[in-house]
Amino acid sequence: MDINELLKGKTDCACGKVHSCDIKHVIIKSGAADEVHTICGDFNNIIIAADQNTFATCGERVVKSLGDKVEAIKIFECEGFLIPNEDAIDALDAFVSDKTDLIIGIGSGVINDLCKYVSFKNDLPYYIVATAPSMDGYASVGAAMITGGMKTTFNARVPAAIIGDVDILKDSPMDMIKSGFGDIIGKYSALNDWRLAHEVIDEYICEYVYNLTYDTVLKTRALAGGIEKRDPETIKTLMEALVIVGIAMAYVDNSRPASGSEHHLSHYFEITGIIKGRDYLNHGLDVVYSTVETQTMREKIVALGTMPEDVYKFDREKWVASIKESYGSAADGVIALQDKMNYYGRGLENVYREKWDKIIEILKDTPTVAELNEILATAGLDFEYYNKFYGRDVIDDADLYAKDLKDRYTVLWVYFTLFAK
Ligand SMILES: [Zn+2]
Ligand SMILES: [Zn+2]
Repeated sequence: MDINELLKGKTDCACGKVHSCDIKHVIIKSGAADEVHTICGDFNNIIIAADQNTFATCGERVVKSLGDKVEAIKIFECEGFLIPNEDAIDALDAFVSDKTDLIIGIGSGVINDLCKYVSFKNDLPYYIVATAPSMDGYASVGAAMITGGMKTTFNARVPAAIIGDVDILKDSPMDMIKSGFGDIIGKYSALNDWRLAHEVIDEYICEYVYNLTYDTVLKTRALAGGIEKRDPETIKTLMEALVIVGIAMAYVDNSRPASGSEHHLSHYFEITGIIKGRDYLNHGLDVVYSTVETQTMREKIVALGTMPEDVYKFDREKWVASIKESYGSAADGVIALQDKMNYYGRGLENVYREKWDKIIEILKDTPTVAELNEILATAGLDFEYYNKFYGRDVIDDADLYAKDLKDRYTVLWVYFTLFAK
């Protein structure tokens, strides 16, 4: 799939929606860091933002490519990881002048989020020079920031350009490469949830975007063996996949094609980890292991054969107590969200009974746990690591209560109805 074709959008989709994307340029190739100037024609006062590690990868090359177009360079010096909080926002903001016409971030997750946020706040475009193929957030509108000590995702905008130099990307930390791979493999679960939501709650689906994302997953899956070898073609295809999934999200104006139950589990580990001071894995690793976990849940549902007569009856008092135990200080927000969404009061068990065969057919349409474990093994990942890292109690709790964090319908709701006690 040619990314530059995708950037043009699609106006004749059978779903009836006009699909568009605000990204103007994508350059993913060896030597891309030396070509940034080729897409900066109209910009003459450019601020460059990086941290000391990401600047070290290709900062000088980008600066050299831009010549006298560079207005200022902000390099965050930090011990450990840069945190995208108020201090970081103010520090970058201070560099923006009346003349500034573009912000270019050099980095991955945090630098991308920070530049996305600050450029949006100042109504400026931004470009990202990606330094690791670590997640699909390069091309997304959301900027995940830590403000007031809490993680919040702000709706900002996509970068006007994504530049990925394969020579830099392939030398990024192996865990970040595996994370990007994991984020893509997780789409098996996300796409299945989309289909399920279409069937159960009649949510909008676009077959074109579904297939675009699915084909991207297949292409990435086929490359699993090149991940640990840092094979340049593999890394290039992985980075392209991460951008294509971002475009898929832009096409439908939300993250549905890319984020379902597997992301909900990963957000559960992250949020309860922050609240309870428990460690959590990096994003894509959490997602790919959680993909095995949600597949285990699908297989448990399928194994029931027929829909059981007795299913869970919602007991609000019991539920509130469980949410408080799981979420601690964040429980009130979770309860308010579910009161608003009212999934518990919709009588979904009747829909399950009525559409059981169709639901089972959908749930079967994913790679099995055994197949997923094989894909993971080829890329040097092992589900047992996740089991040991979090422990079965925490994962079991996520299986039942991660769904409550989100407004999105996924297989976690079916599972809860059938397996909650
Ligand atoms: Zn469509
Ligand atoms: Zn993700």
